[in-house]
Amino acid sequence: MTTATLTAQTLAIKGGPKAVEKVDPTLFAWPIVTKEDEEAVLDVVRRGAMSSNDISKLFEADFAKWMGTKYCLSYPSGTSALQGAFWACGIGAGDEVICAGMTYWASCTSILHLGAAVNFADVEFNSLCIDPNDIEHRIGPKTRAIIVVHYAGYPADMDRIMAIARKHNVKVIEDCSHAHGTLYKGRKVGTIGDIAAMSCMSGKSFAIGEAGVMVTNNEELYERCIAYGFYERTGGPSIYAKGEGAVSNVDLSRFKGVPVGGQKHRMNQTCAAMGRVQLKSYDQRAAEIQKALNRFWDLLEGVPGLRAHRPAKGSGSTMGGWYASRGLYVAKELGGLPIAKFCEAVSAEGVPGCGPGANFPLHTHAVFHDLDLFHQGKPTMIAFGQRDVRQGKGTLPVTESIHEIAFGVPWFKHDRPEEIERYAAAYRKVAQRAEDLK
Ligand SMILES: *Cc1c(COP(=O)(O)O)cnc(C)c1O
Repeated sequence: MTTATLTAQTLAIKGGPKAVEKVDPTLFAWPIVTKEDEEAVLDVVRRGAMSSNDISKLFEADFAKWMGTKYCLSYPSGTSALQGAFWACGIGAGDEVICAGMTYWASCTSILHLGAAVNFADVEFNSLCIDPNDIEHRIGPKTRAIIVVHYAGYPADMDRIMAIARKHNVKVIEDCSHAHGTLYKGRKVGTIGDIAAMSCMSGKSFAIGEAGVMVTNNEELYERCIAYGFYERTGGPSIYAKGEGAVSNVDLSRFKGVPVGGQKHRMNQTCAAMGRVQLKSYDQRAAEIQKALNRFWDLLEGVPGLRAHRPAKGSGSTMGGWYASRGLYVAKELGGLPIAKFCEAVSAEGVPGCGPGANFPLHTHAVFHDLDLFHQGKPTMIAFGQRDVRQGKGTLPVTESIHEIAFGVPWFKHDRPEEIERYAAAYRKVAQRAEDLK
């Protein structure tokens, strides 16, 4: 600065007043837990019913109804729900799946455990979801599925993805861990692909502990998920126990009593109990979050360097519970100000959680290059006769630039206009005074 005069607009990092003097933790506290949640959980604990499935089956019925799907299974984690879904979709040794290079590792890492390889595609700048233009050329004779992550609540471009998948006869698995209740053109994500799995762990927007859920309208996929990890349910309503007349071409009935995946997929019923209660309020609470974050971004409309991470208004698409809310950064509009400096200055204004980036790129990670999971003397990515789809640095430009293009924004849980204005003012002030940070 040329002058030492401090004004209301002086950046806090330069000694000016903070835009957010005091953080009210109730604005961010999540999940919202009431007496009803506590009673439901206590009932399970008092009955010693943590490992039964009476409540979990009720939760599954509630969840399926809420999603609008025929089937639902409850899992101990999102990771396990995804693994069940992957096997159900027929992914096995030597196969390939396509997944975004920028997502949480659980979206695809258990693919290796099935002896398959992950072919990573780039993400789009606007959505941070898989780029539909980077999918089709990756499909080969062994490609079985496309994993779609609705990143940070943003619905991926399902029309284009489904068209590509149907044309090439590959399955679509939706990872809705960030997107409970997100709408894509008016339809709930998780109901558009062949099968969906999602995390419901404590940090997610539908937060009930360490838990996950699978939903589908496809009976065979549902039955295969049961056979893979629900040993005590196989033999109940499962087609694999029906023997003759089984609708599946893979009759696993003779394996009754032992899960074919060797996994034990059973949700702790304290989570299921809380899930039943949380579900009753989820739509209303997510709508409040949407009002709050839309207000925040409306206040920042037109500010140079900053772009909202949300679908266009009037598109029928939403951000669901706006999990891990991000903003998009255009450094060249701020004279090339490095995002780290921008975030540092916003943080100095009193805003918690404004760091650069999102999930780190997966395609360059050693697990997808060198890991020899099965002790075969070669990396699992190529150990089963797959094409070598490993990719090094420089192959997925948007994914690799994630720490320069995305930053954290407050995940408001309540629409409190005056407070939200103060947070928006912090970002606006820093963007408008980017010159001062040179
Ligand atoms: C959280 C998360 C998962 C894994 O869920 P867990 O319940 O933690 O096992 C999977 N995919 C994505 C995109 C996630 O963010």
